[in-house]
Amino acid sequence: MRQTRSRTDRPLQREAINDVSPFLDLPPLSAAEFAAIEDQVAALLHTEADVIVTQGEALLPLEAAIRGAAHPGSTALNIVTGPYGQTFGNWLRSCGATVVDLAVPFDSAVSAEQVAEALRADPGIDFVSLVHAEAATGNTNPVAEIGAVVREHGALLMLDAVASVAAEPLLTDEWGIDLCVIGGQKAMGGPAGVSAVSVSERAWERITANPAAPRRSYLSLLDWKERWTDAGRAVLPHAPAQLEMLALGACLDRIAADGLPAVIARHRAAAAATRAGVRALGSLSPFVTEDAHAAPVATTLRTPDGLHAGEIAARLDPALPVQPGGGALAASMLRVNHYGAAASLDTVRACLAGLAAATDADAEPALAAAGAAWKANVEA
Ligand SMILES: *Cc1c(COP(=O)(O)O)cnc(C)c1O
Repeated sequence: MRQTRSRTDRPLQREAINDVSPFLDLPPLSAAEFAAIEDQVAALLHTEADVIVTQGEALLPLEAAIRGAAHPGSTALNIVTGPYGQTFGNWLRSCGATVVDLAVPFDSAVSAEQVAEALRADPGIDFVSLVHAEAATGNTNPVAEIGAVVREHGALLMLDAVASVAAEPLLTDEWGIDLCVIGGQKAMGGPAGVSAVSVSERAWERITANPAAPRRSYLSLLDWKERWTDAGRAVLPHAPAQLEMLALGACLDRIAADGLPAVIARHRAAAAATRAGVRALGSLSPFVTEDAHAAPVATTLRTPDGLHAGEIAARLDPALPVQPGGGALAASMLRVNHYGAAASLDTVRACLAGLAAATDADAEPALAAAGAAWKANVEA
């Protein structure tokens, strides 16, 4: 195990620390290693399109995709099913695009029919932004059906799949996703400091034709296309975020070794077990009412009237992956994060036992219901 030392030791112990830290004095990450990691991401996303591994948290490729595609004169349908959709709308407006917001209550999902109706109402829509799963609100949207509707209309589809990748099926090409953005920090159990975006041929055409698309900028996908992808991925344009790239490679290797279907099954089972357990508890209820709309990465819970989510959270062991909701939902929502290593029956059981104690409920029926739901879903 790596030794930890107090800060005050550091100046005197620098050499010793270099000897024990696996993070220091690493050989450079080669272009070939970088390209191999991109290819692993492409396989994970089921895409033949170009994949660029972006050197920052997932907000970087999300903003880069929007600024690359949107411009004055374009009309975007921005589907808002949680807080990230609101962020995308702000970026789209700042690019000068006309934005049509399609917002649905955060405890449900948008339907393909609602999207089709919005597209029919405004035939000029040429870009659609959608979040697959929303960790913050615990819902997930039917991307396959929505993708078909968007493709028929002819608009580009950008998908934020940060909270769905490795937690539920994600078929980028089959579903017609032109810009698919992922991050490693949720179900992949990897780093938050790098992310990736797949760019379809149609998306490249649109971005290349957009005079407002960023160039010579950290937000420029076109710079990566010109200097990296189209140049045969031989020379990296700048030094990569090496530790994060190594971690991304490691979590992709682990997913390949475990098998993607098994990783997805663990997340599906964790969500089903949490929902079944919470229903048996009785003191709390799933925030997302329909099982079909519930995200596999996180289960959001509605607190009983009069009991503040922060108060319940304060009664829990801080090691449990449970937190109050954000923003307007801080008082009335709790969120159980069961992704990555936490997508396990042990974690779900610990969360349910903690929530039972914190809300004066009986844990036993909840644990039994969770166990049964886990078994049924992990084997499904
Ligand atoms: C988690 C998440 C991100 C990444 O955001 P962080 O705040 O860095 O965790 C982006 N989009 C969605 C939908 C997410 O759930």
